[in-house]
Amino acid sequence: MKLNLRDDSLDLFRKKCKENKLKITPQRIVIYRELLNSKDHPNAEVLYRRVKKIIPDISLDTVNRTLLTFSKIGLVKNVEGYGEPRRYDPDVKKHHHFRCLNCNSIIDFYHKPYDDIMVPGDIEKRFTVTNKKVLLEGYCDKCGQTK
Ligand SMILES: [Zn+2]
Ligand SMILES: [Zn+2]
Repeated sequence: MKLNLRDDSLDLFRKKCKENKLKITPQRIVIYRELLNSKDHPNAEVLYRRVKKIIPDISLDTVNRTLLTFSKIGLVKNVEGYGEPRRYDPDVKKHHHFRCLNCNSIIDFYHKPYDDIMVPGDIEKRFTVTNKKVLLEGYCDKCGQTK
């Protein structure tokens, strides 16, 4: 197993683990890195199949628990509103999602004006809004024909 700990993409990983006193283990590195390389917002089982190619004896339960831990410490995000199984997002920066209703792909995009959408006054009074996210749904370029 090749592990390059000097890899820049692991900066956030190291920082979050340190802040939360989480041990940096090869398993955790591999799980995080596979998620980071996944552009499709995989659920635990999909990611497990990828991690298994690198660590053949890892269990789905381990991957599941590791992802829950990562999400608890803010290293990864859950993609909201897609029901079960929970899907994970390695990109914690502000961005939006397009979801294909046919193949269930979740595609990242960023559109600045969406950050400036107004929160209705009564919501603003009752709640503390910490995140505004736009979700677009429809058919992706691969599924366009099935409309
Ligand atoms: Zn599609
Ligand atoms: Zn995303």
